[in-house]
Amino acid sequence: MSSALETFRRDFGGDIVEPGAAEYESASRSRLASGSPAHILRPKTVRDVQAGVRFAVSAGLVLSVRGGGHGFAGFGTNDGGVVIDLSELANVEITGSEPHLVRIGGGATWGQVAAALAPHGLAISSGDTKSVGVGGLTLTGGIGWKVRKYGLALDNVAAAELVTASGQVVRASAAENPELFWAIRGGGGNFGIVTAFEFAAHPTTDVFFGKIAFPASEAAAVLQGWADYLRAAPEELTSVAEVANPFAGGPEAPVGIHVAFDGDDPQLAAQAIDPIRRLGTVIGDDIALEPYADTLADGTPPPPGIQFVPRSAFADKESVSEVLQILAEVRASQRSPVITVRSLGGAVSRVPDDATAYAHRQAELMVVTTLAGLAPAVEAARPALDTIWGRLAPHVNGAYANFLASATEEDVAAIYPAQTYQRLVAVKRRYDPGNLFARNHNVRPR
Ligand SMILES: Cc1cc2nc3c(=O)[nH]c(=O)nc-3n(C[C@H](O)[C@H](O)[C@H](O)COP(=O)(O)OP(=O)(O)OC[C@H]3O[C@@H](n4cnc5c(N)ncnc54)[C@H](O)[C@@H]3O)c2cc1C
Repeated sequence: MSSALETFRRDFGGDIVEPGAAEYESASRSRLASGSPAHILRPKTVRDVQAGVRFAVSAGLVLSVRGGGHGFAGFGTNDGGVVIDLSELANVEITGSEPHLVRIGGGATWGQVAAALAPHGLAISSGDTKSVGVGGLTLTGGIGWKVRKYGLALDNVAAAELVTASGQVVRASAAENPELFWAIRGGGGNFGIVTAFEFAAHPTTDVFFGKIAFPASEAAAVLQGWADYLRAAPEELTSVAEVANPFAGGPEAPVGIHVAFDGDDPQLAAQAIDPIRRLGTVIGDDIALEPYADTLADGTPPPPGIQFVPRSAFADKESVSEVLQILAEVRASQRSPVITVRSLGGAVSRVPDDATAYAHRQAELMVVTTLAGLAPAVEAARPALDTIWGRLAPHVNGAYANFLASATEEDVAAIYPAQTYQRLVAVKRRYDPGNLFARNHNVRPR
């Protein structure tokens, strides 16, 4: 046994899963990617995380960090390296009441957070699925059902504790290591392993949640009306348009407008939602009052072999009409991917572009296409997808790191505008000069 491994085994108090172990097969995979790492480490304490980082450095092995394991690009596993799986660091504790501060372990999932906060009437703006990790979602954004009212998940982070590449514990907040604090709010896992986040939670009531469906033939008018309305709609209203879904009827699939109204007053909810009902011929409407925690989907794991390949970009106000016109046209094709459009604006747009490393503050909408299926079907669908994105290209900008399945140079340039990237490089040089944390949309130290 190498001396690095011997030292590590002495210092590490968590579980270690290696090839040959009964659990290896399931532990080696993240939710959407398979791999064959040499060591999967499940730290139970911050000291264990420090030991894991020092081991990866001294053994010269590739390091993957896994939070909830839902990353589309497969960063949460590797071949022959070390995986630090944070799932044992999942404690959720309310630590303050004015404001409502919540300390959350770096490996918690949003379902664990919602379950812990619901009895206290609290919530945190996050995503739409329980099984998604707090770590991956927050470090690059966090766009969920409360995004227009309370901003991105990362806008609600008050502080974080990280183990950096040198194995040291560093705290980042507006007052402590502010450049690092800026960088981790958008720069992903580039700067260290977050062992705990401190979030400002907000009170929540039950919310009005559901979907209004319109006939496929009305897609163009409904989408344009929806985007126009959202520009001035109450920020309690967050909405996602399900533009195309080959699994729900292809070109004939209805257009679904999902809404979440953050409040339990039926009159206010009706005032906010009725203008959407008037956009066309309503053929389905299941909006009902329900606990916020229940709006989050469980996130059932996909069957083995099924791939999910999302791609994303933003649309600013001046391009919204063209983008929606194109999407309404391409949805009518048999070869359309799943297409959704998420509403932004509101609290997201009130944060200055340079206040966090997430820089796409002025976008009104985010377009997400997803190919799903077995590898041959996904490959066969790529040319049509490229044609769609070729048409969208003059009208969209940037990319949302959490909805990307690839990590090319173009992807990285789309996620981080040039000025943001340069500032991230300076932070990277300080905290990870050897680029230990490279399994991400990577900021290169040099
Ligand atoms: C079913 C599903 C639904 C989704 N819904 C939404 C949604 O509504 N809104 C949205 O914004 N996104 C959504 N996403 C995208 C999601 O935010 C990303 O996939 C995200 O990367 C998942 O985070 P994770 O911790 O589960 O993944 P992981 O694969 O564990 O993490 C991805 C990467 O993040 C980094 N990372 C994770 N945790 C830490 C940590 N504690 N410290 C340092 N680095 C860390 C690492 O680089 C890691 O490789 C969804 C994804 C899926 C699969």
